[in-house]
Amino acid sequence: MTIAAPDTHRADRGDAGSPDYDAGTVLELRGIRQTYGTGEAAVHALQGIDLVVARGDYLAIMGPSGSGKSTLMNLLGCLDIASDGQYLLGGVDVSSLDDRQLAKVRNKQIGFVFQSFNLIPRMTALANVELPLIYGGVKSAERRRLALEALDMVGLADRVDHRPQALSGGQQQRVAIARALVTSPTIVLADEPTGNLDSQSTDDVLSILDSLSRAGRTIVVITHEDTVGEHAARVVSIRDGRLVSDRRNRPLGTAKGAAA
Ligand code: ADP
Ligand code: MG
Repeated sequence: MTIAAPDTHRADRGDAGSPDYDAGTVLELRGIRQTYGTGEAAVHALQGIDLVVARGDYLAIMGPSGSGKSTLMNLLGCLDIASDGQYLLGGVDVSSLDDRQLAKVRNKQIGFVFQSFNLIPRMTALANVELPLIYGGVKSAERRRLALEALDMVGLADRVDHRPQALSGGQQQRVAIARALVTSPTIVLADEPTGNLDSQSTDDVLSILDSLSRAGRTIVVITHEDTVGEHAARVVSIRDGRLVSDRRNRPLGTAKGAAA
């Protein structure tokens, strides 16, 4: 039997809490494994991941292509269930949920931002941002108010009636961020959010994530780009399905540009 290393992020906050869960923990992975296929063809994409993320933190998960980043994102976002191990989101073990319950958790708790934006082409920016609220059963006037507020927050108040093809890549990704925010999710989860963007749009997106972090949002961004990692408060590196380093750039819950 091995003795677990002390959890410095918990110690930082100085709260004893329950060993299982405390209000400062937003998510926790315990012994997570993900295997694709069986027998000879089995791919062990994640090989025992333990990770605790505090509320309000800004975490970057970094690693080279094929290291397991997207596999981890799919688990964190409740798009997939691990082959083994536990995932506690807001203290709830999501591996025990059925598909319907998982869909609800995704809608209420997770705001997704993808590399390829994943906007609906025939819908305006406003309609795209309202969509998760429709699934969440929010009434139309309130939907519109929240969606306009989110689009304003990403600097697109003057583009709400544009369809995605009338927007630049950077603007489309900002719409996607507005869509991720609009439900006030427990975590904003971004997989290579700047992977398809030029450097100016990358800077725009990173500064929006910084301001979300300053506003207290919990952000998990998955990336292989150092410039993205530099914006996060904490950087975890993954290689061959294992976490290989864990370093804090800034105190918990602070972002680049925040007052010390
Ligand atoms: P990353 O996002 O870091 O590039 P992935 O999580 O996509 O890495 O992939 C990790 C490993 O799992 C790779 O070896 C990849 O080929 C494999 N893999 C990912 N998805 C599948 C799948 N659906 N079926 C089989 N193998 C997969
Ligand atoms: Mg990937």
